[in-house]
Amino acid sequence: MAERRMWADKRYHSADWEMKHRFGGKVYRVALDGGFSCPNRDGTLGYGGCTFCSAGGSGDFAASRSLSIHDQIDQGFAFLSGKPHDNRCIAYFQAFTGTYGPAERLRSLYEEALSHPRVVALAIATRPDCLGEDVLDLLAELSERKPVWVELGLQTIHEKTAARIRRGYPLRVFEKAVTDLTDRHLETIVHMILGLPEESPADMLATAEYLAGQPVSGIKLQLLHILKGTDLYRDYLQGRCQAMTLEAYTDILIDCIMALPQEMVIHRITGDGPRDLLAAPLWSLDKKRVLNHLHHEMKLRDAWQGKTYKGET
Ligand code: SF4
Repeated sequence: MAERRMWADKRYHSADWEMKHRFGGKVYRVALDGGFSCPNRDGTLGYGGCTFCSAGGSGDFAASRSLSIHDQIDQGFAFLSGKPHDNRCIAYFQAFTGTYGPAERLRSLYEEALSHPRVVALAIATRPDCLGEDVLDLLAELSERKPVWVELGLQTIHEKTAARIRRGYPLRVFEKAVTDLTDRHLETIVHMILGLPEESPADMLATAEYLAGQPVSGIKLQLLHILKGTDLYRDYLQGRCQAMTLEAYTDILIDCIMALPQEMVIHRITGDGPRDLLAAPLWSLDKKRVLNHLHHEMKLRDAWQGKTYKGET
């Protein structure tokens, strides 16, 4: 087995490590709402949206869409005050589908974000079926000024699960989007959810193994949050889906991390559920405990397997 490396004090290439080395210091994400909708909600593909998605379009930490992008960024910084940070951020279009609109409107939103003096990079969460040629060309053009990361909500490679969560596109659409982004030298980050209904640990691991072979630079490994008001919540109340335990989540999370290339940046390993909306699993609210447990379990597993690490400690 190849020796693995340490990334500062972590056994995986964390976003924190990446930001410090890329930008020379701590850089926070500021979640933005560009006023988008989503084809899965506006009737183009359907009205209900993905079954896990909140009314806020999975952008529950973004500022109000009634504010300008500059004001949203300033407000995001105001919320960070008190944390030890420098003055820079990644402008993250998180709510709904961040490329769903005419290219000229997108240009104006992205340009406004990039022109904010604190913004060092742009991250845009979107669907792979919302990346037309004009949008791709726009993103490629902007990436010549500052880094642009396109975040694709894949969640799973399994078509059966994709149908159950009403994702609304097949895997080949994701593959085409990754090819298009790679052709334009745009960095791709993929969102994957652990704990989707009826998925076994082997199913989840298969998604991670598949992504290990894709030209993507980063991944967000997200615990399935059951949020009040979603169709998933209704299923949960009816006993049609369960929340993961901390132990089960940690186990499969470590398997997935180990299946990924060491260089792939892991931008998220838990996920934030909005406290007022989260129905389950409530243990995920204690992020510190989750991370401590993960690091402890990784250490134990290494000891059992005789795995060694090199590099920073
Ligand atoms: S998760 Fe994304 S694609 Fe799915 S309904 Fe929400 S905004 Fe739309």
